[in-house]
Amino acid sequence: MKKIGILTSGGDCSGMNACIRSAVRTAIRMNIEIVGFRKGYLGLMKGDCIPLDTKAVSGILHRGGTFLQSARSQEFKTPEGRQLAMDNLKALGIEGLVILGGDGSLTGALELSKMGLPVVGIPASIDNDIPFTDMALGVDTALNNILYAVDCIKDTASSHARAFVIEVMGRHSGYLASIAAIATGAEFALVPEREVDLSEICQQLRVRYEEGRDNAIIILAEGAGKAQDIADAVKDAIGFETRVTVLGHYQRGGAPTVFDRLLASRFGKKAVELLVAGQNGMMVGLSCNTVLAVPIEDVIKGEKRPQDEMLRLAEVLGI
Ligand code: ADP
Repeated sequence: MKKIGILTSGGDCSGMNACIRSAVRTAIRMNIEIVGFRKGYLGLMKGDCIPLDTKAVSGILHRGGTFLQSARSQEFKTPEGRQLAMDNLKALGIEGLVILGGDGSLTGALELSKMGLPVVGIPASIDNDIPFTDMALGVDTALNNILYAVDCIKDTASSHARAFVIEVMGRHSGYLASIAAIATGAEFALVPEREVDLSEICQQLRVRYEEGRDNAIIILAEGAGKAQDIADAVKDAIGFETRVTVLGHYQRGGAPTVFDRLLASRFGKKAVELLVAGQNGMMVGLSCNTVLAVPIEDVIKGEKRPQDEMLRLAEVLGI
């Protein structure tokens, strides 16, 4: 293998830059040319790529987001779009591809691999719902961002005797909400995996209120309900002053944590090594602190990463 490519696709996350840097440095050490496609699959379909060397990836390790940029593309979901990408790859002499992204991007990667292109995927998604990896890239940084925000809000909540509903990302996954609730000592974590019983929440808050605890933090995964509805219900039931804070895209950005920098570096190196070893259609993953390779097909077909243990822990801790 003489020349490979790398791209970042779907939702961006912190650690993508560190991962690109690691893949580039690994490829260079192995005497392999590497190019980066801009804006994910869009760049692949346009043949929009830049050569990557150590200089191109210097000074990016500590930066959030992705300097190659990311995008979503409907056209790539069509056979014609993917054929365009394959034609460009052939014309550019690219023999393998490293793809960073969430489950959508990995599904796209699998399609390319079925068309004969050696592909290795890297799980990058703050929701941490990708099967066969304990952690995806960007999760730890997103959690630390949330922790900082919740700690700040707790200060003001206690000063003014208010209840806060804090909405975090997670349309289908309550991982961020449940871990953030455990790590900040929040009163409730509302997650899509568990039905939300508003009357039960209000009842518990009323008991707390009558005991003299006049502030509360409710962490809501965006897929578990509407923040304002929950805040209104709490206000109506208890007369508790409530506020809503939607953390939104703040969660995605920022300097990656040590954990994400290390994970990114390990994933990037392993992905290039797998490609060079002739592997195709694999995703790198972390299991028991070991970086391993699993077929993307299994990842796509697999059950979403179960959150049972964390949800049980939250329950035991009274969340
Ligand atoms: P994420 O990778 O973060 O889950 P998306 O689900 O939006 O984000 O997927 C990113 C991109 O991956 C899409 O815009 C599309 O180009 C590509 N993709 C998603 N699903 C498929 C699919 N079934 N077949 C081919 N490409 C896909």
